[in-house]
Amino acid sequence: MPSYERVMGTVCLVNLYDNNKQKCYDEIFERLRQIDEEFDADKKQSDIALINDFGFERPIMVCDDVYSVLETAVKISEITEGAFDPTVGSLVSLWKIKSGSPHEVSANDLKEALSVVGYKNIILDPESKSVRLKKKGIQLDLGAIAKGFATDEIVKIFKKHKVKKAVIDLGGNIYVYGKKSLSKPWNVGIKNPQLPDSVPLVKVALPEISVVTSGVYERFYDGSAKSYHHILSPSDGYPVDNDILSVSVISPSSMLADAFATAFFVLGTEKSLQVLYSARKEFRMEIDAIFIEKDRGIVFSENFPYFYSILYDEWERKSPKSPL
Ligand code: AMP
Ligand code: MG
Repeated sequence: MPSYERVMGTVCLVNLYDNNKQKCYDEIFERLRQIDEEFDADKKQSDIALINDFGFERPIMVCDDVYSVLETAVKISEITEGAFDPTVGSLVSLWKIKSGSPHEVSANDLKEALSVVGYKNIILDPESKSVRLKKKGIQLDLGAIAKGFATDEIVKIFKKHKVKKAVIDLGGNIYVYGKKSLSKPWNVGIKNPQLPDSVPLVKVALPEISVVTSGVYERFYDGSAKSYHHILSPSDGYPVDNDILSVSVISPSSMLADAFATAFFVLGTEKSLQVLYSARKEFRMEIDAIFIEKDRGIVFSENFPYFYSILYDEWERKSPKSPL
């Protein structure tokens, strides 16, 4: 029986395909609750809340989990030239993303929130594992990477318990673990952003790996022509509006897949394909991507190594605008 729990602001579902693994399930959900306590900016004593409240006044010593995720987050901010930025907290609050109540924001409020966005203001000290903020008011938000980190931590627990095969779905962060069967790979479906509750748009045959999608399945309208959603451009502060409906990133590291899915959504397809090369080199990791665009074209990263099928006639594979 699969097991699930509400944690990290979402539902986490784990299926171990084995009835004698209650201990493993217990360990997994305990670990997830611990990660939630460390990362949730709304929990007053979390490391992230402490950095946000006092990181300008003094260096804040943090746990290994938070330190290593922040280190990766800053590296990804550098590689993506700030398209990914863990200091978007002020913008997330301004747009009331967590409460899901869309509304217009004033130019003044936007300017103020943007003035405290910038990953270069995060100072990490590897010796003391402490974090300092160079500017007052900076608000860290690791919502675009923490679930990926947590997914990788679950995989570590699988290894410890010698799990043979399992599936994780942590709020859309998917990990297929082990071999599905001797003859068959895992099949992972990528949602049709225009029909998210229907048949998947793409089916991909995969070995043990993670698939993470950043997409805009729900756009909120407030009656004006504008739409609101949860992925924000750190350069102008608005919800990103480009050719992309969703980006799925496939990698053995769920943390990288999570962060790059968000980053690629901000960067747009062509720029992302360039960044993908640097990302693979920097992290020495397989990273592939599928971009689903508004014109019903689907772009796959170059030399995409997995078999896939597109399940709708009106959608087709297309080449990026400017081939590399
Ligand atoms: P994801 O669903 O993984 O794409 O992450 C989206 C969440 O990450 C949002 O709800 C925000 O909390 C945060 N976020 C939004 N825009 C960015 C960005 N440009 N860089 C980093 N985090 C972001
Ligand atoms: Mg993400």
